[in-house]
Parts: sequence; structure tokens; C-alpha cells
Amino acid sequence: MAAGVEARRHARMRAIEGALTRLEHGEFGFCVACGDHIGEKRLDLDPTVTRCVSCLS
Ligand SMILES: [Zn+2]
Repeated sequence: MAAGVEARRHARMRAIEGALTRLEHGEFGFCVACGDHIGEKRLDLDPTVTRCVSCLS
């Protein structure tokens, strides 16, 4: 159980690092799949999202 918590924490950290890298490269806020803007509300809820709503599934 503790290992699961640790794994989730690690995955979260990597997601945040990824968001920061995209921020540095000016790619933050764009969908990695289609290149469209990810909605600001979505980014407010979770700044680590990498796909827009239409590319989620
Ligand atoms: Zn998209």
C-alpha cells in the first residue's frame, strides 16, 4: 500500500516536471496530440494535463 502511494507521488512529480519543461519551451497549454490550446479552466484544474478535452479518449 505504501508503495502504491509512493508510485503515485513519483508519477505526480514527473508530470509536474514535464509541465515545467513545456513551460520553458513555450509549449505549455498546448495539446500534445493536436497542438490546440488546452482550455484555461482545464489548466487551472490541473496544470499537468497534456491533452485537450477532445484528445483525452
Ligand atoms: Zn487535442
